[in-house]
Amino acid sequence: MTADPVITQQAPTPTQLPATVRASLSPSRAADFKTCPLLYRFRSIDRLPERPTVEQARGTLVHAVLERLFDLPAAGRTPEAAGDLVAPQWDRLVTEQPELAGLFTDDGQVDADEFLRSAAALLEGYFTVEDPRRLEPAERESLISAVIDDELLIRGYLDRLDVAPDGALRVVDYKTGGAPREAFEARALFQLKFYALVLWRTRGVVPRVLRLLYLRDAEVCDYAPDAEELVRFERTVVALWRAIEQATAARDFRPRPSRLCDWCSHQAHCPSYGGTPPPFPEQPTADPLRDARTRPAAPGADE
Ligand code: SF4
Repeated sequence: MTADPVITQQAPTPTQLPATVRASLSPSRAADFKTCPLLYRFRSIDRLPERPTVEQARGTLVHAVLERLFDLPAAGRTPEAAGDLVAPQWDRLVTEQPELAGLFTDDGQVDADEFLRSAAALLEGYFTVEDPRRLEPAERESLISAVIDDELLIRGYLDRLDVAPDGALRVVDYKTGGAPREAFEARALFQLKFYALVLWRTRGVVPRVLRLLYLRDAEVCDYAPDAEELVRFERTVVALWRAIEQATAARDFRPRPSRLCDWCSHQAHCPSYGGTPPPFPEQPTADPLRDARTRPAAPGADE
């Protein structure tokens, strides 16, 4: 699919939002609640810190390289050029997020050179499923948002949006994680449908393809949504938000153990693992639009 430039759909600032908007929701946080209500509480209400993992850092780095790769002239988007971007992009990320440097200092079990090589290996996986010389993405790392049900702002960052000459949209999401795909595929598709809903509501076009690119496995998973499905999905998102509101009012967020617990940073606070949650914050709903003012999870951070 080739691409025509389109205008980036920027998220409205809070002052531009309709007065009826009461809250905002990103696909990551919505998926948290679906996965495990207590995980949602830990991340969105308690805001417990999470140390970046090596996998998340690698995901962020690979996403950064793939974004920059398309700055190059088409003919120059080669595997070698992508490899040359790895170290400079990592240096940039560490400058912006100094905590990333700590990944390699604690016990020496993670070697920085090996880390960069593993990122380069994932990029090789990318080149086996796509030829970036034949693509001109319309948008990369684009923040999109829409208001649904008059009062809920839904928003998130697209990895990439391709627009065909006939206007057809293709949403592309890079997956770099090493976790078993079946454990995360439902979450990944939920995220893509979230983006499809925003695009449909803001541009009036149902994306033709939602594409997951699994770089580790060098595989492509395409999904074609339709309008009826997105109508149902919109109802699901609104119902999810109402459930979050009810849980917040009742201060009742229960653990829902699953295979995803293996990747949860908060087992020490989770009753399912013998832990105790911190005291519930006194005013958890004081600023329900707080998320509209902050950047949603960085690309790759959710891998
Ligand atoms: S360990 Fe599992 S059940 Fe507990 S909060 Fe994390 S995801 Fe939920």
